[in-house]
Amino acid sequence: MTNTTTNAMTTSTTEVAPEGTTRTVAAYAAARPDAPLEKTTITRRAVGEHDIVIDIKFSGICHSDIHQVGEDWGSGIFPMVPGHEIAGVVRAVGPGVTRWQVGDRVGVGCFVDSCRECDNCRAGLQQYCTGQGGAVFTYNGVGHDGLPTYGGYSSELVVDEGYALRIPDNLPLDAAAPLLCAGITLYSPLAHWGAGPGRKVAIVGLGGLGHMGVKIAHAMGAEVTVLSQSLRKREDGLKLGADHYRATSDPATFTELAGTFDLIVNTVSADLDLSAYLGLLRTDGTLVQVGAPEKPVTVNAHALLTGRRSLAGSMIGGLPGTQEMLDFCGEHGITAEIELIRAEQINEAYRRVLAGDVRFRFVIDAATI
Ligand code: NAP
Ligand code: ZN
Repeated sequence: MTNTTTNAMTTSTTEVAPEGTTRTVAAYAAARPDAPLEKTTITRRAVGEHDIVIDIKFSGICHSDIHQVGEDWGSGIFPMVPGHEIAGVVRAVGPGVTRWQVGDRVGVGCFVDSCRECDNCRAGLQQYCTGQGGAVFTYNGVGHDGLPTYGGYSSELVVDEGYALRIPDNLPLDAAAPLLCAGITLYSPLAHWGAGPGRKVAIVGLGGLGHMGVKIAHAMGAEVTVLSQSLRKREDGLKLGADHYRATSDPATFTELAGTFDLIVNTVSADLDLSAYLGLLRTDGTLVQVGAPEKPVTVNAHALLTGRRSLAGSMIGGLPGTQEMLDFCGEHGITAEIELIRAEQINEAYRRVLAGDVRFRFVIDAATI
């Protein structure tokens, strides 16, 4: 393992990283399931012909990070360095790189590779890659080299040039980082199911994902309603662009809004009564599940068939869709509402996310890693 002379590479736009050397970089990792995250070092792979080295500037904390450190969805790979809302600057490029130059502002989201050959990869839906092993997730995954992947709670990342996205110049990198997961996870279903003028859209749960959904659906021109557990965040929700804000703890919400929405996006991972939410859809409406519960969900079939309603799911977005989302956010000046933290506050931030005490995304300043 060799430390390469990375600092010397930051000035030139043509300099190529030395090949064949792995890199030891700082990171925060959980040593085992549910263990607190602690400072450590990890090895990044040698820079390949089509790889870029990203100087990570900011990394968002997604609730999925907490799920995976806690093995909520099944066994994980430890030590685990979470983080898939990565914003940074290109520090060095491999000899075959054509898309990027040193100094470019880039983001990396939830996956860093895929088979590139299956129908979904060819269609730009790499997140649904059906090739051997599927998409390579940014962390808690295994790369095509057989080595575990490590995420964005780190100072540096080596990634194939095709799996990085361009962050528009007018978006600050810290508040843009959450777009790489929270942003695309809401943009993708909103675009796919046609949120826009004349359409009534509800966003369930005003957390990291939900607040992006409100901003994006509003910018798309839809009439937006937040369905939150309480009215505690009402003022914020309206400022973010919601037209209406209703508490799901109030039974009147479900009677008064019955049959009104074209599209509902549910960002909540808790066990909600989805049948009650389906009842809020008008005929042919769709409820899209993006929150990722630990346990199977149950639905009363009558809630579906009485209005030809659909229950769907959606997972992040592909590379073209993610770039489209970033460009859309650039045009509309959309970023996340963030609380910037130092790396040593990660464990406290996890506790606060679990307690619902975040408005609306924690972002780690990678300079403190
Ligand atoms: P978050 O910031 O913690 O927000 C979740 C929101 O859910 C909370 O703000 C809260 O909103 C609501 N909520 C929490 N507990 C609840 C309960 N017991 N009953 C009802 N509502 C509750 O989390 P996030 O980062 O937005 O992630 C949300 C979920 O999406 C997680 O499961 C995450 O793993 C998943 N996810 C999925 C994808 C995908 O591609 N599908 C991508 C990223 C994340 P209110 O207080 O407003 O009700
Ligand atoms: Zn995420």
